[in-house]
Amino acid sequence: MKVLEIKDLHVSVENKEILKGVNLSLKSGEFHAIMGPNGAGKSTLAAAIMGHYNYKVTKGSITLNGEDVLKMSVDERARKGLFLGMQYPSEVSGLTNAEFIKKALEARLEEGKRLSLYKFIKELDQGVLELQMNKDLPERYLNEGFSGGEKKRNEILQMKLLKPNIALLDEIDSGLDVDGLKVVGEAINNMKSSEFGAMIITHYERLLDYLDIDRAHVLVGGKIVKSGGLELIKKINKEGYDWVKTELGIFEEEEKPISIESCAVKESAARPKK
Ligand code: ADP
Ligand code: MG
Repeated sequence: MKVLEIKDLHVSVENKEILKGVNLSLKSGEFHAIMGPNGAGKSTLAAAIMGHYNYKVTKGSITLNGEDVLKMSVDERARKGLFLGMQYPSEVSGLTNAEFIKKALEARLEEGKRLSLYKFIKELDQGVLELQMNKDLPERYLNEGFSGGEKKRNEILQMKLLKPNIALLDEIDSGLDVDGLKVVGEAINNMKSSEFGAMIITHYERLLDYLDIDRAHVLVGGKIVKSGGLELIKKINKEGYDWVKTELGIFEEEEKPISIESCAVKESAARPKK
């Protein structure tokens, strides 16, 4: 079993503080939903855990079974069982999808061990079938010309073969149509085991219908402001995030209530001079 522990995490992007003290504990065997409005810092959280160079951790800690994740390189993090399913997967020309997954698997082998090509091809075929992908997708260049939905299915295909212990899935539902949501949701849920858990970042409840979610967290303004169970997901789906902000007295910068005085100033400035 693996435990990912995030404590008082502060992360800056381009010298702007985005995460302002995130606390979260996620075990393999559990699915946690992370929800929150646009710009709340959800992708920043995933990128910081995986070690993206643009995202600077300025305070706090991330550990995996007690080991300091922040001291690890990105590939070390992957070898230790972390995986990021990206919101916007990159296109790589000249490298086929199958080659990419094979290279990633080989990079994780202990020295002297070799990948069973037979097993690899079998699992790849099974994954393509389960995710109802076009048969030619493994042989095409990585994500090049893939539709939004194909890219997302492909992230899950990679995950199925790499078998991480903790997956961070960033809006894996965006770009998927209704059928795609079901196929991808079920494929993720089928992986749930004592060896596999996931942080599922999403705006919507739709994908969560197919997943056996243990806990939901709401991220607003760089902090987890609320955690709960399925009832929290239902409430957000019905009422959005405004009630969370109102309840906690959170106002985004552009939403600060404007005082009557400043309105008056704006109005008189806009009024044509007589
Ligand atoms: P979410 O995924 O919750 O929509 P993000 O984590 O993507 O939010 O972004 C949080 C904030 O950080 C936003 O205001 C966004 O503009 C800013 N941000 C994220 N990445 C970058 C970047 N590479 N450069 C500048 N600002 C960024
Ligand atoms: Mg995002």
